[in-house]
Amino acid sequence: MAGKPILPPAMLGILGGGQLGRMFATAAKTMGYRVTVLDPDAHAPAADFADVHLVKPYTDPEALAELARTCAAVTTEFENVNADSMRWLASHGVPVSPSGDCVAIAQDRVAEKNFIRNAGLATAPFLAINNAGDLNVDLTPYLPGILKTARLGYDGKGQTRVQTAEDARAAHADLKHQPCVLEKMMPLELEVSVIVTRTSANEIACFPVAENEHANGILDVSIVPARIKPAVTDRARQMAITLAQKLNYVGVLAVEFFVLEGDELVINEMAPRPHNSGHYTLDATLTSQFEQQVRAMCHLYPGKTDLLRPTVMVNLLGDVWKDDGGEPNWDVLLTAPNVKLHLYGKRDARVGRKMGHYNVLAATADDALEQAQAIKDTL
Ligand code: ATP
Ligand code: MG
Repeated sequence: MAGKPILPPAMLGILGGGQLGRMFATAAKTMGYRVTVLDPDAHAPAADFADVHLVKPYTDPEALAELARTCAAVTTEFENVNADSMRWLASHGVPVSPSGDCVAIAQDRVAEKNFIRNAGLATAPFLAINNAGDLNVDLTPYLPGILKTARLGYDGKGQTRVQTAEDARAAHADLKHQPCVLEKMMPLELEVSVIVTRTSANEIACFPVAENEHANGILDVSIVPARIKPAVTDRARQMAITLAQKLNYVGVLAVEFFVLEGDELVINEMAPRPHNSGHYTLDATLTSQFEQQVRAMCHLYPGKTDLLRPTVMVNLLGDVWKDDGGEPNWDVLLTAPNVKLHLYGKRDARVGRKMGHYNVLAATADDALEQAQAIKDTL
């Protein structure tokens, strides 16, 4: 059922104050809303843009009570937040989107993959592992594979590549026998993602499909539009929409796909929030994924999502900062009139840490890619 529109200057709450929370806050503030961020880190990137920053754990009863008392609606910037905190808020009269139930599915790889399968959509072959005994079966359908922790994985963390059954058992022991999935290593032609917005009135808007390149398990570059056939684009978008509908999802949902030989699509995973591969929407579509998050939680119509220009997004990791903490050389990047820099205001530039990104808008995706690479070489 559609909810009543929540209008500015209502207070919107978000669980988590990382870069996704920061970009959510800027979108909300631009539209005239006020923002409360719950994040235990006093220097959380979103704090710069928050009207109120509750520096408390995500399960803190007083902080949750304050969100319930002061916010017209609450959302989240990550799936590793306690789903029970979201359910508690919902049961205390605050509209919460996405629901705690959707977040609970997305935060557990086993629940997530089972849900995707039950929705009639494809995943890679996988085995759910609850204890060491679950690995005492014929593992050949899943080898060579990747052992992934069921919970709390991100940016390739908590993953081990395994060749043999012995490898798999040893890797599971290294992970202290915690719940995992063993997933077959797929021959990837490409990786793509779709970000879909669904409102409580079942209005749906899909962003253009992004093609994603990873380095060391971390997203490196997104190329939009993805260099796949139009029919494959349509199929990926339809699969993401089906998933959002089966979840009865409200908010912004990111769906990551593997493209296999013969244009076969399997779903890798989903994220119940805006996604790194959607950062191009900050500059390349009329509505950004963060504005869509605001719109969905406030029961407004989703905004337009057409691509204004082919765009390449490049992640800026701490690796490009100098060893002494000095800034990268921004000269070339900042003199290019078709390039947009986004920094997240993080203090410590550690290796592998997402510090910012830049978007290159050009006549073709290939032109954008070439320029994006040339800029990267100057940083
Ligand atoms: P993130 O949160 O950054 O999306 P994650 O830690 O949740 O990452 P996954 O998305 O599961 O990790 O995997 C990260 C990357 O590792 C994938 O994008 C893909 O490049 C590679 N990968 C993961 N699983 C497989 C697989 N079964 N076959 C081939 N490659 C894989
Ligand atoms: Mg992933």
